[in-house]
Amino acid sequence: MAKEISKLNDSRIELAYQVETGDPEESSIQFATTNVAARRQGAHAADVDFTQASCKRAHWADQYAGQRCIPAQAYIENGWNIGCTNCAVTVSSDSYHQDEDGDTDKPHEPVYRGEDLFCSAECELLHDAEVASYNAKGEAFKARVTQERPDLEFTVFRCGWPHITMVGEFKFPGCQYGGSVRDQEGDGTIQWYVAGGDVTAWLAYEKEGQATVHQAKAKYNWKHDWAESAQAVRPRDRLPRGVKRAPLTKPYGLITDEMPLYARS
Ligand SMILES: [Zn+2]
Repeated sequence: MAKEISKLNDSRIELAYQVETGDPEESSIQFATTNVAARRQGAHAADVDFTQASCKRAHWADQYAGQRCIPAQAYIENGWNIGCTNCAVTVSSDSYHQDEDGDTDKPHEPVYRGEDLFCSAECELLHDAEVASYNAKGEAFKARVTQERPDLEFTVFRCGWPHITMVGEFKFPGCQYGGSVRDQEGDGTIQWYVAGGDVTAWLAYEKEGQATVHQAKAKYNWKHDWAESAQAVRPRDRLPRGVKRAPLTKPYGLITDEMPLYARS
């Protein structure tokens, strides 16, 4: 007990507070050294004015100060409601599955996974399958764009779970900012962009780099891919070898600060 009191008197120790607004969905646990600080953090998190938030101690959560998350199970055991990570149905310690008529039948038997909770083992499986599907699409996107343009230096990819829009950022010799390649809707339509300030550098690079591109294609077995998916190849690449095509001089449209180069699906 003496130890507990000295801990409470140490103003550097962060304690758990439950911050509430008018909306139960915005309630949160905040870790802070004072009630006022916790209330300010909670109000900020809920995007409400400080005066609209109330704050009280949540002793049960003190043990999670400094940790990455509070486990979903701890929330449920302390009377909170949490949405299923997969289907968003609300789960609490006494919630039930509902059938289509709104009748309740059997109690939820939640599956806990860190800060995630699933209302049933089936929901956990569905979620895992969806994550796997997103990740597979992400890997396919990476493979496709790096095969399509092996000459570019891809620096960052944002794809795979939970990204719907898949993005790869790239640099090319002579660029200042670089460009990006995107599958905006995750439907296989790929668009290439280059920063507005790099359009001239890009056109010069493309004009100059035909030999390099051909070499790079050979390295990545491009021909095989090309033959198998003629529809999925940039129009300029369908030109017979030796036929020159004028470089793209008028990028169409404008998205943020980047110029789209070409689109295809
Ligand atoms: Zn569920």
